[in-house]
Amino acid sequence: MDKRKIVKIIQLVKNDVRRFKNPIVTQIGELTKDPFAVLISCLLSLRTKDETTAVASKKLFALATTPRQMLGLSIPQIEKAIYPVGFYHTKARRIKEICKVLLEKYKGKVPETIEELVQLKGVGRKTAGIVMCYGHNKGVSIPTDSHVHQISNRLGWVQTKTPEKTEEALMKLIPKPYWRDLNNIFVTFGQHVCVPVSPFCSQCVISKYCPKVGVVRSR
Ligand code: SF4
Repeated sequence: MDKRKIVKIIQLVKNDVRRFKNPIVTQIGELTKDPFAVLISCLLSLRTKDETTAVASKKLFALATTPRQMLGLSIPQIEKAIYPVGFYHTKARRIKEICKVLLEKYKGKVPETIEELVQLKGVGRKTAGIVMCYGHNKGVSIPTDSHVHQISNRLGWVQTKTPEKTEEALMKLIPKPYWRDLNNIFVTFGQHVCVPVSPFCSQCVISKYCPKVGVVRSR
């Protein structure tokens, strides 16, 4: 795969998605410049729609914006603030557990390596990557969710079965300066254009470069 062509496609998509709002977690990162806010909102966003995450994050951050303040809240208080995000019981407990570790082990700061972040209970590689890219502003990985995974496969850049394998393959294909923004660009693109079911190929700015691998129905 020609890297110059990949970069050109990324730039075309980047320009196109400017007409849409960014995904909520990156919006929170841009607004707060706070890795803790990115970490917590990313946890809330798992298996949850962006609109629900936005309201839940706002309500929770109105009560607490630091690990110490968060630990001062009871689990029912956190649950009430974040309801109805998916798995809100579990997420409320996880938030408390994570805040305890941040205080005890990291002086209340959010660690700055993927390896340390994934040690936190409930934090997987994708969440760790999001915190690195949009919390610490360090593009050290390509956080790969279902959108990044599906779009990369449709484009024929990778032939992979899981987001983990996709990330590994993408890190070999894509020049490092583009790692940080790729999640934001492709998630936005996947929410509005290259949607999971029946993508809008007829209106897509990269249609002529895309082999549409696995697309059975499009608009
Ligand atoms: S042409 Fe269709 S499948 Fe390919 S990136 Fe665009 S919307 Fe997605």
